[in-house]
Amino acid sequence: MKKRKKKTIIIFLFIIILTGSILFIFLNNTKEIKNKELKVNKVADTSLSAKLKNEKYYIENNLDRYLKYAGENTDLELSKIIADVNSNLDKTKYEDTEKTNIKDNNLMLVNKYYYLTENYEPDDLITLTAKYNTGINSKMRKEAADHFMKMSDAATLDNITIKNASGYRSYSYQVNLYDKYVERDGKKAADTYSARPGFSEHQTGLVSDINQIDNSFENTDAFKWLQNNAYKYGFILRFPKDKEDITGYQYEPWHYRYVGEYAAEKMHDENLTLEEYYAYYVENN
Ligand SMILES: [Zn+2]
Repeated sequence: MKKRKKKTIIIFLFIIILTGSILFIFLNNTKEIKNKELKVNKVADTSLSAKLKNEKYYIENNLDRYLKYAGENTDLELSKIIADVNSNLDKTKYEDTEKTNIKDNNLMLVNKYYYLTENYEPDDLITLTAKYNTGINSKMRKEAADHFMKMSDAATLDNITIKNASGYRSYSYQVNLYDKYVERDGKKAADTYSARPGFSEHQTGLVSDINQIDNSFENTDAFKWLQNNAYKYGFILRFPKDKEDITGYQYEPWHYRYVGEYAAEKMHDENLTLEEYYAYYVENN
């Protein structure tokens, strides 16, 4: 009887020691693997950071966002990661929003991340005459309007007609317009071609939809003329064909934005949208 009890105790102790050892080895191993993974990640991050820093439009403040975005989009080139994050594509449209800095004046950014308040109305709007305008939204801010008229006059000398078909639009006008589109096509579709109230660039008074508001405008001589000359008068094609993800809008060959001659030339030369230009040359400075 005594002998049997002793044997049971020995077996019991043996089992405890064995389980303990196995557990110890297992936990230690997991820790080691985890440490190794962390090290590998850190090395990858360091070398990726170094590569990102060599990119032309790298912004130091955005480094953490670049790394996160790169991790989520492993197939993208570095330059695309930079362009996307600089343009806020890692944020949620119409949700991660902030007020537009109107002090940026001609360079103020209004898109699906930056909005104007309901009562924002530029105080230097002027009305274009029939010589330069067709349509009901005939107002633009003074500097933009002056440059628009200069551009139109220059085009006339080349036998090209350039007229504003839609300029400044108030917040309440955009409310009606957007609601109408939503009713017709649904919110999701409407969001691809119409801005929500407050998020429309037309409220800046720095925009002109030129001649005809449809895609056939692309095939006109006026469009070709604008391609070669708009930037000389401070205007840019705001929603280009190959940058739809960056701007958040379908290609709009008719929609031009005044940014001033210096910025327009730079955007033209470097093939940048206002989103990319703003992040790097305005906000970053
Ligand atoms: Zn427009």
